[in-house]
Amino acid sequence: MNTLTATLPLGAEPEPDPQRDAERTAIIDGLLQRGFPGMMFPVALEREFQQAGLEAKRAHIVKSGFISLLVFNVFLVADYLMLPDVFDLALTLRLLVFTPLALLFLLAFQSGRVRWLSQATPLGLEAIAMVSGLAAAAVLAFILSSSDSPLSYLYHIGFMVVITYGNIVQRMRFWYAVVFSVILIALHVFGVWALPSFPERMMLPLMSMVLASAAFTLTANYALENDERRRFLLTERERGLIRSLTQTQVRLRELSRVDELTGLYNRRHFESAMQQLWQRASFGRTPMAILMIDVDHFKKFNDHYGHPAGDACLRQVCQVMKQTLSGQGVIVARFGGEEFIAAIPGLDEDASLALAEQVRAHVERCQIPHERSATSTVVTASLGLAWCEARPEMKVEHLLALADGALYDAKYQGRNRVCNQST
Ligand code: GH3
Ligand code: MG
Ligand code: MG
Repeated sequence: MNTLTATLPLGAEPEPDPQRDAERTAIIDGLLQRGFPGMMFPVALEREFQQAGLEAKRAHIVKSGFISLLVFNVFLVADYLMLPDVFDLALTLRLLVFTPLALLFLLAFQSGRVRWLSQATPLGLEAIAMVSGLAAAAVLAFILSSSDSPLSYLYHIGFMVVITYGNIVQRMRFWYAVVFSVILIALHVFGVWALPSFPERMMLPLMSMVLASAAFTLTANYALENDERRRFLLTERERGLIRSLTQTQVRLRELSRVDELTGLYNRRHFESAMQQLWQRASFGRTPMAILMIDVDHFKKFNDHYGHPAGDACLRQVCQVMKQTLSGQGVIVARFGGEEFIAAIPGLDEDASLALAEQVRAHVERCQIPHERSATSTVVTASLGLAWCEARPEMKVEHLLALADGALYDAKYQGRNRVCNQST
């Protein structure tokens, strides 16, 4: 059964953890202030960062993959002009081996049909970028090693293009880009050393060009990743701020409608909720009852047992009311002091009266001693019930006034009873 009796409902969101949020914000602030020269966040945050960029990186791999493949094949013109003796080999390797394999891979990756491919992890994506670059470099190295062309040494410039591909186009994470660049430089140096016809005076210029391109592209890669990480941190900080503001807002909204002592709705919330309930009932001309409950001789209880005992007594009476009145659409609230109010929709007059009588009996059955009561030896309550069949031309304030009158009757007739009035 759904009751609207309230004990600070906080919504269906997972339990917010202000402590964890504060720690996270402190870590993020620290990183933003001190920087992260090692291009690495603390483990949990690093994982989040990698995950956050995953989707964009997947899309980038496909897009840049197709473009790079096209560029890779355009270099056939350079093959033709520089290494005419092995052009057939270059054509075979580029167009008939590398391209179909790369195309197959890219299409499978893009379609998402190959499950393990489309669910690639951050590490998997770095591996894809690295393996594709190394494969391209291997093709270059193989063509190069097979040629006797006097211009073959110039072919080494191709390594610069591959380094640019890995460090800038695919933008591998910095440390992967470093490893990639080192492997390519090693390949290049090995190629220089292994090519007997390499002109000695061209060694230094070519090597320094390859090294410079590695250094420059790594510098750019570092700066780009630094920006990406900083953007991630700023976004996360903003999100944390919004989260904590939302939590505060929810909390404040609850506090503004719930009575602190009893956990019931307060009068302000009752009145607005009551209006809505009334509108629905009057539109459908369905029954509506208002029940006012007042603890008898409560001032004397307070005077005799003290204020804290009075508070405890109120909480206990509230508990009884919540349990007894819990029902579809019933709103229970603390009306003020030791007075409570309930709006009960959808019950006929007899059922409403029976419910009110139950509340009275249950309060009495709590057996909270009250030595100063002129009515009983235990705490009792008087109840006023007003019942009607709601209709649009009637105002709910009229029903409230009737309930108040009924409560007055109950007091006047000796307390610890239910009186009712209906229209
Ligand atoms: P009656 O039987 O006619 O209702 O008499 P009563 O003494 O219950 O009514 P009265 O309005 O004279 O006194 C209500 C008392 O309720 C006065 C106040 O001290 C006490 N009271 C109001 N709010 C609180 C509260 O939050 N905690 C405690 N302990 N007492 C409260
Ligand atoms: Mg009172
Ligand atoms: Mg009272």
